[in-house]
Amino acid sequence: MSPTDPSAQKTPLLRATGLRKAFGDHEVLRGIDLEVRRGQVIALIGPSGSGKTTVLRSLNGLETPDAGVLAFDGGPEVDFARGVAKQQRFAVRDRSAMVFQHHNLFPHRTVIQNVIEGPVTVQREPRADAVLRAEALLERVGLAEKRDAYPHELSGGQQQRVGIVRALALRPDLLLFDEPTSALDPELVGEVLVVMKELADEGWTMVVVTHELQFAREVADEVLFLDGGVVAERGAPEQIFRAPREERTRRFLDRIL
Ligand code: ADP
Repeated sequence: MSPTDPSAQKTPLLRATGLRKAFGDHEVLRGIDLEVRRGQVIALIGPSGSGKTTVLRSLNGLETPDAGVLAFDGGPEVDFARGVAKQQRFAVRDRSAMVFQHHNLFPHRTVIQNVIEGPVTVQREPRADAVLRAEALLERVGLAEKRDAYPHELSGGQQQRVGIVRALALRPDLLLFDEPTSALDPELVGEVLVVMKELADEGWTMVVVTHELQFAREVADEVLFLDGGVVAERGAPEQIFRAPREERTRRFLDRIL
């Protein structure tokens, strides 16, 4: 299907309905609905503990919700309340890539080795091809000359940019970002956000958990404000940030902005 195919526009890449998750008797997700269309950037914002990371991890199978339905790219629906066949759950995982708060690079491998690891060992791409693609991606984020460096030789911002390249190298349909800048020193945040903004401009489909509200406002197509395990409000960034409908959204934004 080409991106201009009307049916491609109609079917969301990912649709989650009624996601629920409890850890012990703590209900962390209490019915989350979410739709991601190709090329869209969705930002998840909200107070700490509101369930943002758990939503993200539920989307790619790192967490298994107790209930709810997930459908990926028109594929079969996965109904978590009925139990989940492994291969269904992993359909999303195989076609998405996650950038974590901490980059999780292998410390004893060079930058290029880190980037080609997934394509070569998981996706069975010929090593030479993976290296060429990795080099092009590193070039794109301004890290070509760090190809043979080890993670500890890089700044936090550079490490996180390698983390992003490693995700891109998997050629995912969906990029998931879990607070990718929150562990960085403030002066390093900008260089990572610039890369993320470029990816959004290039049309990557992204779901981003973030405390960077200015970024969410500029880059997201839709903002979901989570509070207490529910989507308390959702809408276009300008609406959410300029004219929030819900009192709790207003209070959250007043506290942060
Ligand atoms: P957010 O990303 O909005 O800060 P999280 O999704 O990380 O929120 O967490 C929501 C709540 O779930 C928090 O109270 C957190 O302590 C709890 N939680 C998250 N993961 C686990 C886990 N694996 N075991 C127990 N509690 C968890």
